[in-house]
Amino acid sequence: MSERSDTIVAIATPAGAGGIGIVRLSGPAARQIGWKLGQRRLQPRLAQFVRFRDGYGEAIDHGVALYFPAPNSFTGEDIVELQAHGAMIVLNRLLRRCIELGARSARAGEFSERAFLNGKIDLAQAEAIADLISSQSEAQARAALRSLEGAFSEEVQALQKRLEMLRMYIEAAIDFPEEEIDFLADHRLMSDIASLRTHLAELLAGARRGQRLRDGLHTVLIGRPNAGKSSVLNALARSDRAIVTAQPGTTRDLLREHIDVDGVALTLVDTAGLRDSDDSIEQEGVRRARAELERADLALIVLAPEDEDQLDALRAEAPARARRLVLHNKSDLRGERSPSPDLQKLRADAPASAEIHLDISALTGAGLASLRHQLRQLAGHGDGSEGAYSARTRHVLALQEVAEHLQLAEQHLVRNRAGELAAEELRLAQQQLATLTGEYRNDDLLGAIFSSFCIGK
Ligand code: GDP
Repeated sequence: MSERSDTIVAIATPAGAGGIGIVRLSGPAARQIGWKLGQRRLQPRLAQFVRFRDGYGEAIDHGVALYFPAPNSFTGEDIVELQAHGAMIVLNRLLRRCIELGARSARAGEFSERAFLNGKIDLAQAEAIADLISSQSEAQARAALRSLEGAFSEEVQALQKRLEMLRMYIEAAIDFPEEEIDFLADHRLMSDIASLRTHLAELLAGARRGQRLRDGLHTVLIGRPNAGKSSVLNALARSDRAIVTAQPGTTRDLLREHIDVDGVALTLVDTAGLRDSDDSIEQEGVRRARAELERADLALIVLAPEDEDQLDALRAEAPARARRLVLHNKSDLRGERSPSPDLQKLRADAPASAEIHLDISALTGAGLASLRHQLRQLAGHGDGSEGAYSARTRHVLALQEVAEHLQLAEQHLVRNRAGELAAEELRLAQQQLATLTGEYRNDDLLGAIFSSFCIGK
């Protein structure tokens, strides 16, 4: 608590925003500093017109002061917000004066950190604030707001409670060792575990959608040489709403591009060169590249008309987990001699219906609008974004671990009738869940999360 007995101050609006600028104070001395600065006693939750003055009584600016007393404020502490004209010169003078009067410059994310430490928001909500601020599409912003308002945290807590009940039930059973326990025969227990598994899978799906919204789609480009992979990439990138940044690959074979198509972030990896090779150094590169590819969400398979019979071979190159989008390219070249592929039939034949087929021409641009539309849908920007949380990779990884512990718990019960081991797995699952909300705290993690915020938030 002593750490938080000081009062922090920061400019809470982006530099050069123009219009209104806000200087925010939080801590026990906030009200007094605001009062000295504006020479007026601040009333709770009332917008008061004040003249801000420096140490010599010279006016810095005039504006509005707002006072939110603890504990009903964002940080849970006394907060004073000073609204002045947005010029950085003015805001910096206000900031300096607050520091002269006893406040300390806030670190990045320190207001949100205090809100977290004072129990006003949990960790997932704090992260949602940062995500909301940095969101670049309406879908991202909606998902961040859902998380900020606690939708994700509530689900996590509900799951937490169910795990706790299950663990207590099992522990109670093992406390009576004189009775032979047959967990398998306990239908209530088994159906509880099954429904917990479904609940967890739903939460994980929502988190994955949110992660894609936030981080974009990790996409691999697959196709025979000359199928038109680079052309498709360029056509997507050249659209006036796309931004391309080329990065040198991690191996000489792995070409990466980051593209933003209509607000959908795509990281594209070209698998050209990932064919079998005799060169041992190259093999190592290929191995690493392949490992990386396994993380992909989407495989873009590009087919030229003469490659139509290669589809099965190319499918085999796609990462197992990835959705597939098959692009029948060079539609402009198709005529009498190479008729269009029967997309209806291909769609119907597609294994596990996880495949989408599109007829396009990178050269003429035909079909590219549908391609962009599909990419937006797959990235969670379409109807699929309903129910998404602004989840981060760490959330998805933690939920995956929870799922693994739950699965192990079930195996211990079913295969070995080992109640103690199952209870231990459930305890570990609970602990993982608690890292999401920050109930189970790790200072390094907190530091990493809050330092990525901007100052004043
Ligand atoms: P990659 O090897 O798969 O990257 O293929 P490229 O993008 O380099 O394209 C190979 C050749 O096909 C180039 O000469 C392109 O101009 C041509 N090409 C690519 N897309 C189309 C298309 O839609 N129509 C036509 N007619 N030619 C295309």
